[in-house]
Amino acid sequence: MPRFYVTTPIYYVNDAPHVGHAYCTVNADALARWHRAVGDEVFFLTGTDEHGQKVARAAEEHGVTAQEWTDRLAPRFAEAWAELEISNDDFIRTTEPRHRQAVQRFLGTIYDNGWIVKDTYAGLYCVDCEQYYAADELVDGNRCPVHGRVVETLEEENYFFRLSAFQDRLVEWYEAHPDAVVPESKRNEALSFIKGGLQDISITRTSIDWGVPVPWDDRHVFYVWYDALVNYLTAIGYGEEGPHGATFERWWPAVHHLIGKEIIRFHCVWWPAMCMAAGIDPPAAIQVHGWLLVGGEKMSKSKLNQITPGELIADFGVDAVRYHLLRDTPLGSDGELSVEGIVARYNADLANNLGNLVARVATVVGSKCAGVGPAAPASGRLARAVPGLVDEAVAGWARGLPHLGLEAAWKVIREANAELERVEPWKADPGPVVDDALGGALEALRLVALLVSPAMPGTAAEIWRRIGLPGVPGDGGPGHELAWGGYRGGVGVEKGPALFPRRRG
Ligand SMILES: [Zn+2]
Repeated sequence: MPRFYVTTPIYYVNDAPHVGHAYCTVNADALARWHRAVGDEVFFLTGTDEHGQKVARAAEEHGVTAQEWTDRLAPRFAEAWAELEISNDDFIRTTEPRHRQAVQRFLGTIYDNGWIVKDTYAGLYCVDCEQYYAADELVDGNRCPVHGRVVETLEEENYFFRLSAFQDRLVEWYEAHPDAVVPESKRNEALSFIKGGLQDISITRTSIDWGVPVPWDDRHVFYVWYDALVNYLTAIGYGEEGPHGATFERWWPAVHHLIGKEIIRFHCVWWPAMCMAAGIDPPAAIQVHGWLLVGGEKMSKSKLNQITPGELIADFGVDAVRYHLLRDTPLGSDGELSVEGIVARYNADLANNLGNLVARVATVVGSKCAGVGPAAPASGRLARAVPGLVDEAVAGWARGLPHLGLEAAWKVIREANAELERVEPWKADPGPVVDDALGGALEALRLVALLVSPAMPGTAAEIWRRIGLPGVPGDGGPGHELAWGGYRGGVGVEKGPALFPRRRG
């Protein structure tokens, strides 16, 4: 059975969950659901990143310990994901004992292998990123390119990971694995950064103590980023007994990291090198996505342009929000988030196309077929047109590009609506022509429910139920096949309330 281990970045616990976080998490969820539906074994991980100076400072400002502070904040992410019906199998917090154990084991192995050494470092540091920047990366001479915050000069003695020693091996790895980082533009960005020359990186701090202690020198803690990356290993048992832990070999390196473009260097340069240094394979797949912009700017805590997932769900419903996030901003591109954009997409795709098809089919089955759905016809326009579109949708999902899967599913919906308008079964007398037209439309709805269920699980299940099928789409039960002809008919079709009532704005 193929395995699919999918991860989101772990989110910084100080941030409030916003739609930018939701964008990545909903995409990872849709991919996880698709792989489960086609029978793959899936493990889906998300969580929170809880160490570092910013967290320690915020806790101090609020007069609580850092642990109390993170205990208060972490549940906001778990709650946001519950509201969005995220189907993660694990939620990792980097302050958990299992994570400390994995970090110490992983970085301890790199140290034992001779790839971590002590040195003095001075550099320009953004407290928000918890990252040093080179002078030429700064904006306006002294500002962080992500936050626009003035960087600080910091000097400390600490331990360095000998990243420079991995330049050639990283280039070889990229050349041997041309599809490991997608899209290609991001792969090229990472590769040219590597080819430009790599410097050793400072991976510990003595100036703070809110972190995982360095096992061979307890005056130091690991710098938050190097602790955070290890979460992908912790969750699959790396720190546990045995060579790597009981389930580690089961899931690694067949991992699919979904990340934002601002963390390419950490994931596409540092992380594969650290894996090599620890003697494990680098991750098999890293998929880089763009940013959801509001008024042209990335959402962030300091910019006060955050929209919460909860606000949108209250307004549009969970499936419409999920659909918008998956459909309107293709993975790899930047997108613009606006209420006008959501309303336009909602009315065009959900109210007019999908909602209309579901409603008219059920109405006409009620009036012409006494509410009993006819079987899919073996031939006819839909039988010819739809299978190719289903293949197109399957290919989109299989490539990890939900927008392509959904685009093709909407072609099926438009074909089915067009065919009903051509035949006009509502004007005809009951008989074979009406049966074929309605059976074809019901079959199209069955297939659409299967194709959209990773994006809109609740809506897909409701369509499935209304057209009289047992179970839920994607559960592998009867009517689950993606080939044309799975709708056998002879079952009650229910006309319910509008799935997506049209909106004015
Ligand atoms: Zn920054």
